Amino acid sequence: MADSTPSPHSSAHPTPDRPVYVIGGGPGGLAAAYALRARGIRAVVLEKSDRVGASWRRHYDRLHLHTTRRLSALPGLPMPRRFGRWVSRDNVVRYLEKYAEHHRLEIVTGVEVSRIERAPDGTGWLLHATGGRELTGSAVVVATGYNHTPRLPDWPGREAFTGEFLHAGEYRDGAPYAGRDVLVVGIGNTGAEIAVDLVESGAARVRLAVRTVPHLVRRSTAGWAAQYSAVLVRHLPVGLVDRISRVQAKVAIPDLSAHGLPRPDTGLYTRVKQGAIPVQDVGLIDAVRKGKVEIVAAVESFEGDGKIVLADGTRLSPDAVIAATGYVRALEGLVGHLDVLDARGKPVVHGARSPKTAPGLYFTGFTNPISGNLRELALDAVRIAKAIARDSSA
Ligand SMILES: Cc1cc2nc3c(=O)[nH]c(=O)nc-3n(C[C@H](O)[C@H](O)[C@H](O)COP(=O)(O)OP(=O)(O)OC[C@H]3O[C@@H](n4cnc5c(N)ncnc54)[C@H](O)[C@@H]3O)c2cc1C
Repeated sequence: MADSTPSPHSSAHPTPDRPVYVIGGGPGGLAAAYALRARGIRAVVLEKSDRVGASWRRHYDRLHLHTTRRLSALPGLPMPRRFGRWVSRDNVVRYLEKYAEHHRLEIVTGVEVSRIERAPDGTGWLLHATGGRELTGSAVVVATGYNHTPRLPDWPGREAFTGEFLHAGEYRDGAPYAGRDVLVVGIGNTGAEIAVDLVESGAARVRLAVRTVPHLVRRSTAGWAAQYSAVLVRHLPVGLVDRISRVQAKVAIPDLSAHGLPRPDTGLYTRVKQGAIPVQDVGLIDAVRKGKVEIVAAVESFEGDGKIVLADGTRLSPDAVIAATGYVRALEGLVGHLDVLDARGKPVVHGARSPKTAPGLYFTGFTNPISGNLRELALDAVRIAKAIARDSSA
C-alpha cells in the first residue's frame, strides 16, 4: 500500500469517487478507457462535443484510412471485415460508436476540460471543466488529439484576401469548387488528397503550393501495404531505412521533377523523425503527371487585390484557397503550467510514462508515427492501463 500521507508528488488510487479521467472521446481516449476498464479500473471519458469520434465526423467525405483495417482497430474489438481493407470515414465513426457501446464505456459528453491542476490534498488531479465543474481524478489520460486546432501560417495580407479562404479542416467535398480555380496550400496527406478530390469534382484549375518536397509512397504494392513496411522498419537505424526507401522510391514512384516534384534530398525516415510522414498516393502522382494538379512554389503573402505572392515571385489570383497547413496540439492551456511540454508544445513523455514532476498524468496520441497513429494509440492504451494499475497497487 502507498504511504497514507499524501506527498505533493504522489499519484492516487482509483476509487469510484476518484476515477481515472480520460480527456477526449476520440480513438485514443476510448481505447485508454477500455484498457483501464479491462483491468478493473473505473475510467470516465470527458468529451467536449456531443458524441464520440468528433474529429472523424468533421473529416472530408472521401477520406479513407491510409492504414489497414486490421492495424487500425482498437483493443478489444476488431473492425468488421465488411468495412474493407481501407476503411471509410463513415465506417470509422460507426466503429467508434460501436466500440463505446460494446465496451459500455462511461462517457460524459458536452464537457470540455480547460485546465488540469494537482488536487489540493496532493494526491491525484483536479480538472476544471465546462460550467465551473471541478472533478478530481486519481490519474488523468490526456487524449485531446494531435490534430486539435487548425494551424494557419501568419501570412502577411491574408486578412485582406477577397477570395474564398478556408482551412482543410473545414473542407467537406469538391462540389462547391466545380468550374473554379483553386489553390491548395501544403502537400501533406490532406493537401494531396484534397487536390485530387478537387480534380475529380470538376474544378477548372487546381494548383498545389509546396514548400518542402515530400516523400511519396504507394499505399500498397502487390497487396503489401506501405504500413506493413513502416511497422517492420520502425526500430531499424534511420540511415538504413533512408537508403532502403530511396531504392524503393526509384522503383515505385516515377520521376516528377519536370512537374515540380523532384525526389527529396533528405531521407524518408530522417524526415519522419523530424515530424513529417510520407504522403501516400491516392491519385496525386497521376494527376500531377497529367497536369491536372499543377505544383507551384510556397505561398509567401497575400495582396489586397485578390492576388497571392509565391516564394518564386509568381502572382496568382485563384477563386479559392484551401490551407492544408496542419494542426497544433494546443495543450498549453490545459497543462502548459505543469512543465510537461517541450518548446514545441509536445508532451515530454508519451504512452506508459508519466512525467517525473507529474505522476499520474499520461498522454496518448501526440506523436505522428510512421506505423500509423491508430495502431500506436491502441498499443499505448494497453501500456497506460498497465502503468496505472501498477501504480495503484504499489
Ligand atoms: C485527415 C486525417 C486522416 C487520418 N488518417 C489516419 C489513418 O489512416 N490511420 C491512422 O492510424 N491515423 C490517421 N490519422 C491520425 C489519427 O489516427 C487520428 O487523428 C485519430 O483520430 C487520433 O485520435 P485521438 O483520439 O488522438 O484524437 P481525436 O480523434 O482528435 O480525438 C480527440 C477528442 O478529444 C476531444 N477534446 C479535445 N479537447 C478536449 C477538451 N479540452 N476536453 C474534452 N474533450 C476534448 C475532441 O472533441 C475529440 O473528440 C488521421 C488524421 C487526420 C487528421
